[in-house]
Amino acid sequence: MKVLIDPEKCVACGSCVAICPEVFEMKEDGTVDVKAEFKGKDIPKELEAKVQEAHDMCPATAIVIEA
Ligand code: SF4
Repeated sequence: MKVLIDPEKCVACGSCVAICPEVFEMKEDGTVDVKAEFKGKDIPKELEAKVQEAHDMCPATAIVIEA
């Protein structure tokens, strides 16, 4: 599983950061993104459920999961 955030959709609500701070982070400029260490990389199996939950809870459908 890989994950990315569509910056055009994200409203920086922080929900994904609250659900899965291991993978998502709020930057100093107030935008939210996937941490650099996970960009374009496979998410560890043990974090997949939390990433899926963050995806399902995102109010802006900005989180894109790739198989
Ligand atoms: S939950 Fe969605 S809208 Fe909110 S910060 Fe995360 S990606 Fe952005």
